[in-house]
Amino acid sequence: MKWLNIQSCERTGVALRRKHNVLESRTKPQLIPAFTMRIVFIGPPGAGKGTQAEKIIAQFKPAHLSTGDMLRAARDAKTEIGLEAEKYMSSGKLVPDEVVIGVIADRLKQDDCKSGYLLDGFPRTIAQAEALDKMLADAGTPLDVVLELKVPDEELFSRLSKRGRADDNPETIKERIAVYNNQTSPLLDYYGKKGLLKTIEGLGTVNEIFARIEKVLNPPKSGCGCACR
Ligand code: AMP
Repeated sequence: MKWLNIQSCERTGVALRRKHNVLESRTKPQLIPAFTMRIVFIGPPGAGKGTQAEKIIAQFKPAHLSTGDMLRAARDAKTEIGLEAEKYMSSGKLVPDEVVIGVIADRLKQDDCKSGYLLDGFPRTIAQAEALDKMLADAGTPLDVVLELKVPDEELFSRLSKRGRADDNPETIKERIAVYNNQTSPLLDYYGKKGLLKTIEGLGTVNEIFARIEKVLNPPKSGCGCACR
């Protein structure tokens, strides 16, 4: 069995191993619940969100909920939702709120979301954020943190032009950046006011950027966070 992370409790010095969001004392066999991470990941197209999301998943093991991936899978499977979504995706526009909210509401009910998730690409509008708040309030499972990956527009344009995805042609890129600035960036203020927003500088190497993310996700909220007390 491969343990993911070895830490030691700051207070007692007891070595702890983290697996599937659970900390286990090496000396005592009982399982100690660790923190559950419910994370929203926001960033403009081309900010490197996909790459960093993969690293977050590998390190912290939340479920990965990417609405872009879900919609592309639905499109490829030619489902009704997928075919409807494609009309918007191909031109860089947002799929209507009610469609995406429905997709996420179903996904959040699945078992793997119980021990935390990374919402990647959702919410993208204030209406989506409000719908998410309502779902999470009803379930009594509020968000822990909203990560913003921040990259200047000029850099985004140059990165996306090199990427080569079907929706990465110059017109669509311009549209997607404009859509982010107009419809998604108001979420920064929305979550900032709730005290949930942490901004990560998105320039630098993949590992440098991930180190900044780890700093935000790693420190326990109070004490050493290992449930030693
Ligand atoms: P992404 O892979 O996150 O860049 O998403 C690709 C495309 O899927 C976007 O340009 C939108 O057309 C659509 N999409 C993904 N997530 C959402 C969302 N939360 N709301 C509306 N449209 C979305």
